[in-house]
Amino acid sequence: MKIDLSGQVVLVTGGSRGIGAAIVKALGGTGATIALHYRQAQKEAEILAKNIPNVHLFQADLADPVASRELVPRVIDQLGGLQTLVNNAGVVVEAGLNHDPRQWQAAWEKTLQVNLIAAASCSRKAIEHMRLNGGGRLIHIASRAAFRGDTPEYIAYAASKAGMVAMSRSMARYYGKDEIKSFVIAPGFTRTAMAQEFIDQYGEEIVRHDLALNDLTEPEDIAPTVVFMASGLMDHATGCAVDINAGSYVR
Ligand code: NAP
Repeated sequence: MKIDLSGQVVLVTGGSRGIGAAIVKALGGTGATIALHYRQAQKEAEILAKNIPNVHLFQADLADPVASRELVPRVIDQLGGLQTLVNNAGVVVEAGLNHDPRQWQAAWEKTLQVNLIAAASCSRKAIEHMRLNGGGRLIHIASRAAFRGDTPEYIAYAASKAGMVAMSRSMARYYGKDEIKSFVIAPGFTRTAMAQEFIDQYGEEIVRHDLALNDLTEPEDIAPTVVFMASGLMDHATGCAVDINAGSYVR
């Protein structure tokens, strides 16, 4: 089966590194026009743009609500439309019971802003455009933590991702008649800089112990499902959440 996304504009937030970079690489073989968003990893983003056809770079700090609201309109203005939004950018900020209350509050606010409110802002702008332009697809990279929960210092992270799941289901249910589909991918531990922080703290053995498979999930294990969702071949699964977690949490 060959997936051809020529004529589609796909925005990947956090496309500079990790899972987002793997998604950009996978999209590179489909003919899509790719809007690669990054915050600070400009060098990595430029290398991807050099090696992959049709990649356009957009910088924005999604911790900033104004920049979050402006990102999708900037893409639409520059590239002439948007057919698929991939909400992938995310952060993990520690907020344990031992933290100073102000630090704890700031960690919750940053986590919710980047992981949930910015994704909602981008989705809102995308929906406004898609409703008037033949529809489109929203793909949200949530987490196993949304369903299984997380360790005490990462409760804010789990809550932000659970919010993303509820957001996606609501969008799927209420914008389907406008030809808008909405999907969640819920990865388990995936070998990126983000997972490395946890591995450094708890050790790789704890992560491996949970897996049904022998190998830790790689970003390239996530990317093909995003391409498949963007292709339209999964449209009747709108509202679903696909677990990609090496069998570590089967529900
Ligand atoms: P990563 O390697 O740390 O990359 C994070 C990406 O998000 C980068 O492209 C980064 O951009 C961007 N980003 C971070 N803060 C941002 C901000 N304030 N504004 C805009 N962009 C920002 O993480 P990853 O593991 O690939 O994670 C990708 C997604 O998968 C996240 O939503 C994460 O929650 C989810 N996920 C990851 C795992 C895992 O084990 N790795 C598991 C479940 C879910 P810059 O580099 O330019 O700053």
